[in-house]
Amino acid sequence: MNIGFIGLGNMGAPMARNLIAAGHHVTGFDTAANPDGIPCAASVQEAARDADVVITMLPNGDILRAVAADIHPAMRNGSVHLDCSTVDVASARDVAQAAETAGLSAVDAPVSGGIGGATNGTLTFMAGGDARAFETVSPLFDIMGQKAVHCGDAGNGQAAKICNNMILGVTMIATCEAFVLADKLGLDRQAMFDVVSTSSGYSWSMNAYCPAPGIGPQSPADNDYQPGFAAALMLKDLNLSQMAAQAADADTPMGQAARDLYAQFVEEDGMGDKDFSAMLPRFAARSRP
Ligand code: NAD
Repeated sequence: MNIGFIGLGNMGAPMARNLIAAGHHVTGFDTAANPDGIPCAASVQEAARDADVVITMLPNGDILRAVAADIHPAMRNGSVHLDCSTVDVASARDVAQAAETAGLSAVDAPVSGGIGGATNGTLTFMAGGDARAFETVSPLFDIMGQKAVHCGDAGNGQAAKICNNMILGVTMIATCEAFVLADKLGLDRQAMFDVVSTSSGYSWSMNAYCPAPGIGPQSPADNDYQPGFAAALMLKDLNLSQMAAQAADADTPMGQAARDLYAQFVEEDGMGDKDFSAMLPRFAARSRP
C-alpha cells in the first residue's frame, strides 16, 4: 500500500518503520521530528496525496482536527484516514464525519502497548468505524500490532480506550493505597502480593505490573519507576474519560477521584515523568489528610 504517516514522534516513528520493513511504501510528515529511515514529504498534503491509507499519530484532538482539515481535501476519493492517536471521543467522531463528507472512510484506532509495543509491533488496537474500512486497514494492524478489536462505529475505539484506562487508573490507585495500608498494619508486602494476586482483589495492576519494588513480575517499580506508562499520559487519558463522562452524563465518581489524584501527582508534585505506579511511594510518604 501507499501509506501517508503524519506524526512521527515516540510512537509514530517506530510504527512507520515497521510498515516500511514489511514492504509498504510510506511517506511521512511531522512538523518537528525528522526520524531516520522514514522518507518525508515537504508538506502534510503531499504526504497524504497518493496514499491508500493516511495514518495520523498526534498529541491531541485539536491537532487531529487541524491536520484532518488539511489532508482530507488532498486525499484520493475512497482512501482511508486511520487515526491511531488518543483523543477525545467528540473529536474522533467529528473527524470521521468530515472524512465521510470528503468522500473518504475513517477508522479511529487508539493503541495500548506504549513505545515498546510500537517498536516491537505488538500494539493492541481498539477500532471504531465502518466494517469495510476496518477490513482495509487490518493488514496494517497485523504488522504494527498483535491484536485489533473492532468496537463498532466511529469514536468507539476511543471510547474503549478511555474506559479501559479509567479502570487501570482506579485499580492502580487502589492497589497502591492497599499496599500502604498493609505496610502500616505490619503485613509483609510479599505476603500481601501472594494473597491478593490469587484472591478477589487481583487485577492487572497487582498481578502483571505490581507497583511494589521487588514483588511480583518485573515492572517499572523495579527500575526506580522509570516509565513504562508515564503518569502524565495516565492523566491525559483520565481527563479524556471525564470529558466523555460529562458529555454523556455518566456518573463516574471513581474515575473523577483518580483524575484528581493524578492531576495532583503530575501538576503539583511534578511527577509526570515517573511511571503511573509511582503512586505507591507517594501514598507511603504521606499520612491521612
Ligand atoms: P509525541 O509527542 O512523541 O509525538 C507526536 C508527534 O506529532 C510529534 O513528533 C509532533 O512533532 C507531531 N506533530 C504535532 N503536531 C503536528 C502537526 N500539526 N502535523 C504533523 N505532526 C505534528 O507523542 P507519542 O508518545 O508518539 O504519542 C502519540 C499519540 O499516541 C498520543 O495521542 C498519545 O496519547 C498516544 N499514546 C502514546 C503512548 C506512549 O506510551 N507514548 C501510548 C499509547 C498511546
